[in-house]
Amino acid sequence: MGFLREWRRKRALKNARLDADLWRRVYDGLSFLRGLSDDEAARLRDLVVLFLAEKEMHGAHGLELSPEIRLAIAIQACLPILNLGLSVYDGWVGIIVYPGQFRVVKEEVDADGVVHVYEDEQAGEAWPGGPVVLSWEDVGLSGAGYNVVIHEFAHKIHLDGPGDDDFPGPREGMDANKWRETLQAAYDRFCAEVDAGRPVLVDEYAAEHPSEFFAVMSEAFFTDSAVLARDYPALYDQLAAFYRQDPAERLPARPAGRRAKGRA
Ligand SMILES: [Zn+2]
Repeated sequence: MGFLREWRRKRALKNARLDADLWRRVYDGLSFLRGLSDDEAARLRDLVVLFLAEKEMHGAHGLELSPEIRLAIAIQACLPILNLGLSVYDGWVGIIVYPGQFRVVKEEVDADGVVHVYEDEQAGEAWPGGPVVLSWEDVGLSGAGYNVVIHEFAHKIHLDGPGDDDFPGPREGMDANKWRETLQAAYDRFCAEVDAGRPVLVDEYAAEHPSEFFAVMSEAFFTDSAVLARDYPALYDQLAAFYRQDPAERLPARPAGRRAKGRA
C-alpha cells in the first residue's frame, strides 16, 4: 500500500464520525452479523468507515441516500472482505442506488445466431472495473439465502480479481484444482436438481451460469451458512477458504428467507 494512501486511511479512521446509535441500529437489523466477535465487529466497522470514505454512493431516480442506506450497503459490502481487506475493491469507486428495480437493455444471441435486444428489470448489476448498481427495495428484501448486496459484491470480487468467466480464481494457499472441481461439481449438481424439479436451497437463478452460481452461493454462505454447510459441505469449505471466514460456526441455522427475481 502506498504511503499516501496509508496516511489517508489512518486519517479517515481517526476522523471518522460514525454515529454509534446509527451503527448499532443498522448492524442489529442485519441478523446474519450475529455471532461476529467484538474484534471482528470492530474490524468490520473500520472497513466500513474506509469504504464510505473511498467509494462514492449516488441515489438515482430521486432516491435520497440517507445515512442508514449508505451504512446498510457499506456493511453488507464489507462483510465478504472482512478478512481479505479493502484492496479487493480497488480500481472503481461508484455505487448507484435506485429506489426499486431498474430497466436495462440486454442482448442475447439465440441458437441461429440472431441477436435479440430486450429490456429487463434488475435488482442489481456489477460492472468489471466499474460501478455496482443496486435496487434499494431489493436490498430491503434480504433474508436468509437472499442478499442483493452480497450478490453484486461477490460479482465484483470475481470480475475484478483473477479467474475466468465461470469462476473466480482461488486464494493464495488454496488447492486450485480442488477449488475449481468443487465449484463445478456443486454447480452441475445444482443444475441437475433444478432440471429434475427438486426443491433447492437457493434461488434457481443460480443455475443460469457458473458465475451466478458463485454469487448466489456467496449469499447463502454469509446469510444461510448452516444450511449451505449441511447441504453442500465441500462447497462450503471451499468458500470458507476463499473468503477466509467460517460463518456457519458463528451463526445458528435459520429458516429459509424470501426469494426474489431480477438479479444480474
Ligand atoms: Zn448476478
